[in-house]
Amino acid sequence: MATQPQSAQGKPTASYDVVVVGAGFAGLYMLHRLRGLGLTARVYEQGGDVGGTWYWNRYPGARCDVESMQYSFSFDDELQQEWNWSERYAPQPEILRYANHVADRFDLRKDIQLDTRVESAVFDEHNNRWTVTTSGGSVSAHHVVLATGCLSNARTPEFRGLKDFEGQVYHTGHWPHEPVDFTGLRVGVIGTGSSAIQSIPVIAEQASQVFVFQRTANFSVPAHNAPLTEEERARWRANYAELRRRAREDMKNGIVQEVPDRGALDDPDEVRRRKYQARWTSGGLTFMGVYNNLALEQAANDTAANFIRDKIAEIVEDPETARLLQPNNHPVGSKRICVDTDYYATFNRPNVKLVDIRSHPIEQILPHAVRSGGKDYGVDALVLATGFDAMTGSVAKIDIRGRGGQTLNDKWAEGPRTYLGLMSAGFPNLFIITGPGSPSVLSNMIVSIEQHVDWIADCLAYMGDRGVETMEATHPAEDKWVAHVNEVAQGTLYPQANSWYMGANIPGKPQIFMPYIGGVGVYRRSATTSRRRIMRDLR
Ligand code: FAD
Ligand code: NAP
Repeated sequence: MATQPQSAQGKPTASYDVVVVGAGFAGLYMLHRLRGLGLTARVYEQGGDVGGTWYWNRYPGARCDVESMQYSFSFDDELQQEWNWSERYAPQPEILRYANHVADRFDLRKDIQLDTRVESAVFDEHNNRWTVTTSGGSVSAHHVVLATGCLSNARTPEFRGLKDFEGQVYHTGHWPHEPVDFTGLRVGVIGTGSSAIQSIPVIAEQASQVFVFQRTANFSVPAHNAPLTEEERARWRANYAELRRRAREDMKNGIVQEVPDRGALDDPDEVRRRKYQARWTSGGLTFMGVYNNLALEQAANDTAANFIRDKIAEIVEDPETARLLQPNNHPVGSKRICVDTDYYATFNRPNVKLVDIRSHPIEQILPHAVRSGGKDYGVDALVLATGFDAMTGSVAKIDIRGRGGQTLNDKWAEGPRTYLGLMSAGFPNLFIITGPGSPSVLSNMIVSIEQHVDWIADCLAYMGDRGVETMEATHPAEDKWVAHVNEVAQGTLYPQANSWYMGANIPGKPQIFMPYIGGVGVYRRSATTSRRRIMRDLR
């Protein structure tokens, strides 16, 4: 039970078993599980409504890149049987409706406080409780769960002159709630990651002119999005139990697909091309699952990369534009591969021009133009598709203090250190959902979110039943896990790219490969074994 409000300003005014930070999919499901355990909980969300990613990222063309029948909760069979996804990859408004439906269906809203930022969380070693200070006051909690999201801290680079730009500036990760009409406008899009690749074709249909400012060309595969038929939905629903199990246990990335049993160089050229073509034709992220060594061996990876480069050359009519769009400085997949609708073909439109800002970096933003290579590109509106301070950005913005007053930011100064991505030594009863050191962004995130929430809920239930006050990672266990995460990453091609997985997109951020590459199935087994061991030790 929550206790009565206590006292004066600055002192906690209420007390909960658990405070959850964030009301995206992770925060929503966490709250649902906590309710089921009979624990009191308060969820704080800085946004004006639930949905997280899907509340903030409202840019034109935003949609999931994991198929909706899989990018959805599995914890409640009635929910998965009843919700009707309209398309293979649902658009953002529909995913946001789904998040709202989940909040209403499970009556979650009464414990969610919107428009409230968590500023700090300080652990008191005398009473084993956290004081959580928000933009609306302080509360006390036995446990804190950070459901703050891996891609929730949108980043605007410091372009000289940006503040003097006289048109509208939009960030894809903070898109306005009102419709944005680009009709008749000249639009500059900075960035060519997933957000840009989804939005550029849609913006190009409205705007009079689009300049795409590209620093790094990205690999993109077609989505082949389409409406879902009743038969397709029925096929998934009839087999959900087994398909969800496979996603959780048998897959590396939590997406059901055939598991390859051979490497790219085991097949002759012609067979290999046929296999790549088949995945290209069916569309989506599973392109990278054709062979089992694409993330491991450069020569194998080159075959997939060359296939995509050839496709770009086939689609894009202007040879110089095609050449610039062909990625040439990282293995395919080492930056998150993009999934698009008509991205490359959009460069055949007369109103779309690619500007190479790798050779000629943006020098300055002028009131009505972007200057690069001494040339001014006249624009009326700017779209910053410049990404996020990923994985640690939102956690770092909270002043978190654990044992001995140590701050999490100090502890993570050289890069994040966690046990299983779930806890960090010295910070008792503080949990992170899909934290660095877990598969998180390398997986179907809902699979990973559900697993982390269940893990945390099982631990809290166990502690509650036995009156255990605190639980925390030990330093040796954490050191071992961090070493394992690094070792697995070093055995792959991933660290070769300047990616946000590495923190490379944020000047000054330590460059450490943050997610765990071992795969969701392998990881789940490690986490389950470890939870059993922890429970034994807590006895
Ligand atoms: P989020 O949805 O990011 O929610 C975290 C919430 O915490 C946010 O609402 C934020 O405002 C709040 N918060 C953070 N800090 C504080 C604070 N201090 N105080 C209060 N509130 C705070 N993943 C996939 O698997 N498949 C996809 O197709 C896919 N598509 C994506 C598309 C886009 C455009 C983006 C940006 C990401 C996508 N992802 C996808 C990743 C996506 O982030 C996850 O799938 C999932 O939505 C994350 O849910 P979450 O609840 O963990 O975090
Ligand atoms: P991103 O992948 O980090 O892309 C950011 C882009 O901005 C990159 O092209 C980057 O270039 C460019 N950029 C950043 N700073 C710049 C600067 N100072 N000057 C010039 N260019 C700069 O971000 P995102 O596109 O928002 O995607 C982030 C992640 O969110 C994705 O990888 C994916 O996991 C998720 N997402 C998924 C979908 C989906 O399809 N469902 C859609 C959107 C996002 P460099 O590469 O050179 O740094």
